[in-house]
Amino acid sequence: MLKKYEKFLKEFDKKLKKYFSQQAEYICCKEGCAGCCEVGDYPFSQLEMMYLMQGFRTLPSETQEIIRNNMEHLKKRKIPSHFFYQCPFLINKKCSVYKYRGITCRTFGLAYLIDKKNKKVKLPECAKEGMNFSKIYDGKEIKINPIKENLDLPSVISSKLAKNHKLEFGEIRSLINWFPD
Ligand code: SF4
Ligand code: SF4
Repeated sequence: MLKKYEKFLKEFDKKLKKYFSQQAEYICCKEGCAGCCEVGDYPFSQLEMMYLMQGFRTLPSETQEIIRNNMEHLKKRKIPSHFFYQCPFLINKKCSVYKYRGITCRTFGLAYLIDKKNKKVKLPECAKEGMNFSKIYDGKEIKINPIKENLDLPSVISSKLAKNHKLEFGEIRSLINWFPD
């Protein structure tokens, strides 16, 4: 299943590359900015989680230890299931498992349509902080056409592309909830 998933990711990333270049003018993500990984709830399907953990196993033992510690600290906070937290895989403002990161992680930075009927757009949180899309976002409306595809996780895993690859994604949970207390 993970081989099939890798093939899917190759095509998905190709599509995202096109979307990123379409919106390049409004995107100012730079190495060193990790805002998207510092505050979030990181939905991961079971399949993505298996892939992420495959990446984890390739890491040096010291890096694995840092991630385990990050996870332990988060778990100790015992905050209710839907809360925002820093991803435990983020180390020194870099994703330690970049190649293996989730579908949602790959879409960080883009503006896309989540509700065609009501023209609801998902913008990166940093748009409110003067970063991505802030040039064309006044706090209420975005003055460009966003990507006309819903890139949230449930939509991506039920997309034609995912179906073509005959993938079974399984349950979706916030990343931290894939790990025992
Ligand atoms: S897995 Fe990597 S890219 Fe995804 S939220 Fe965590 S640190 Fe960020
Ligand atoms: S989308 Fe915004 S917060 Fe996230 S990495 Fe890019 S600039 Fe930083």
